[in-house]
Amino acid sequence: MDDASNTNGSTGAAYSPDQNIAMNAEWLATVSHELRSPLMAIKGYVDLLLQYEDRLLDGERREFLQEISKGSNHIASVLDSFLILARFETGDVHVHLEPVDLLQLLQQVLLKFSESIGDEAGTVQRSIHILTEFDTHTVEDPQDSIIMMADRGLLQVMLMQLLDNAHKYSPTTASIDIGLGLNTAAQWRTLVPEQASAHIESSQQMMVEIRIQDYGIGIPAHYHDAIFQRFYRVDMNLTRDVAGLGLGLTICQYIVTLHRGIIWVESLPDVGSTIHVLLPVQ
Ligand code: ADP
Repeated sequence: MDDASNTNGSTGAAYSPDQNIAMNAEWLATVSHELRSPLMAIKGYVDLLLQYEDRLLDGERREFLQEISKGSNHIASVLDSFLILARFETGDVHVHLEPVDLLQLLQQVLLKFSESIGDEAGTVQRSIHILTEFDTHTVEDPQDSIIMMADRGLLQVMLMQLLDNAHKYSPTTASIDIGLGLNTAAQWRTLVPEQASAHIESSQQMMVEIRIQDYGIGIPAHYHDAIFQRFYRVDMNLTRDVAGLGLGLTICQYIVTLHRGIIWVESLPDVGSTIHVLLPVQ
């Protein structure tokens, strides 16, 4: 595996100081918005609780407390993203490799993810399928397992992040497909796009591919590298309506690199996006 094992370095575009200032200002506005909106919601519900304490019905009180909890969770997750990024950037992340059953982990992550999106409106009709390509058994069959050496916690963070993006950037009724494939590195080299194959050694090492595919807004080709840079968000009207800091894919890329893997995107606007992650099994 190539040392600089990612396929998504800088785009090479030269930024002028003015562009930099504009980007910083935009980023500050995004962060302020991401923190201020939930904070204002919390403040509003706390004020209501204080003002109408004696007159509220149990159901109303519960609803307000749930909104307060949702707002606090959102603020906590924004701050968590900053802390995780800071730890990656200062080299303060220690990878703890252990045998991980990938299918089992995926099923646990899916459960947690479904619970988290279920809360949102109670109306999410999302179906998520796992498709395996390494044999013909069903997912439930224990023989279907891929046992790989990985950091369970970091893989979980990555999978949650990729599912969250697939969810955020596609209609709530569209499905999300998770594909798993197993091949030797040499075989993968012949199967993946050129920009990814350049980073794979032609060896007999087994590698697993995890694909998270959505049928959402997609990403124009000229952004495919940039979205992995920290704080980068695609400048499209739809993206602006969706909460985000532009850190999720940066964090995923750190996690993949720490596992000596590669990550890349295939996407077409209005068709959908697939994030591919290729990781060594051992
Ligand atoms: P965030 O989603 O918090 O903005 P990410 O780093 O996860 O940050 O993603 C960077 C940008 O890439 C997003 O702002 C969005 O424009 C684009 N993006 C990521 N995943 C998808 C996806 N599945 N579909 C469409 N656009 C995406």
